[in-house]
Amino acid sequence: MRIKKSEPILVTRPLLPPLAEFQVYLKDIWKSEWLTNNGKHHQALEKALCEYLGVKYISLFSNGTLALVTALQALRITGEVITTPYSFVASSHSLWWNNIKPVFVDIDPVTCNLDPEKIEEAITPHTTAILPVHVYGTPCDVKRIKKIADTYGLKVIYDACHTFGVKIGGVPVLNFGDLSVMSFHATKVFNTFEGGAIVCHDAATKKHIDNLKNFGFLDETVVVLPGINAKMNEVQAAMGRLQLKYIDGAIAKRKRISERYRKGLEGIAGISCLKVMPKVEYCYPYFPILVAEPGYGKTRDALYEELKKHNIFGRRYFYPLISQFPTYKGLESAQPGRMPVAERITKQVICLPIYPGLPGAVVDLVAKIIRDFAK
Ligand SMILES: *Cc1c(COP(=O)(O)O)cnc(C)c1O
Repeated sequence: MRIKKSEPILVTRPLLPPLAEFQVYLKDIWKSEWLTNNGKHHQALEKALCEYLGVKYISLFSNGTLALVTALQALRITGEVITTPYSFVASSHSLWWNNIKPVFVDIDPVTCNLDPEKIEEAITPHTTAILPVHVYGTPCDVKRIKKIADTYGLKVIYDACHTFGVKIGGVPVLNFGDLSVMSFHATKVFNTFEGGAIVCHDAATKKHIDNLKNFGFLDETVVVLPGINAKMNEVQAAMGRLQLKYIDGAIAKRKRISERYRKGLEGIAGISCLKVMPKVEYCYPYFPILVAEPGYGKTRDALYEELKKHNIFGRRYFYPLISQFPTYKGLESAQPGRMPVAERITKQVICLPIYPGLPGAVVDLVAKIIRDFAK
């Protein structure tokens, strides 16, 4: 199979339900003239997501970053927060916007998630919380993290932007931690154009979060908090309702693509895929591979460029590390050599294209290009 230059294969494409079905929702929104502020579609999506995801309470947001910022506000987190350098930059930016100092801790080489072994040594009298990320949808070691948090009296806020519907032994991963934050950005498994959510476990917290995302309004005249505006509108919510109709099929297709890559890449020296953890139901948001130069014979960047020559656009998620950006690189925890695992993996990773409509023949071709380039 050859790929036409006019049709680049991107790392991801959005899940787009049939336009005609969306138009039905749009007509309904126009007729109602209710465009935002906890409208009918917003309420329906919150309810439907609680059922689908198996969580008790969810508050919808205009995007994942504002949901992260608000989650930290909701728990009044201050001082220092332990987090991972290996994530999308918004994980740490949400701390910066709350005047909190991120303390970077190295990742586990198998899961690419915050290494629980290294959390305790980073705790100081200023530490108030842990902000781990379920990177690529692989659940963090939630039990170990809970034990550490309980021992030291810390809150846990999960960045769950990669984990739509992920379960461990049948239990939704969103039910761990004090709060979990989701993103429904166009590039994610489930999208509302832009969008996000906070998952919490009790009605009082949900009410507090709902106040915070709507300027702090309690009712018409009472403002109880200095809130922000982070509300999801009706068009976004309608898109979400429609996504739910197609999400199981989309995840099943992602699963087949992931399995096809694994088979196609088998036995290539220096190329490794992420380990499949037992008893985990995944959502397959990314397909990362690690390129170990000594085994493969070529660098990660050389392979990245080679794929581009064939019109295949992988992405180096996550490179550079968050701790290497100017905002953070001056921090003590960000100094080179302090996070050897993250520093290695960030130089080895490429995320290959994965989205429901990706043809199997393209998956085979990508694997072949990677295999042939090693020779
Ligand atoms: C996408 C993403 C975010 C940010 O979400 P937005 O909805 O784009 O604001 C934060 N953290 C992680 C890990 C993400 O992948």
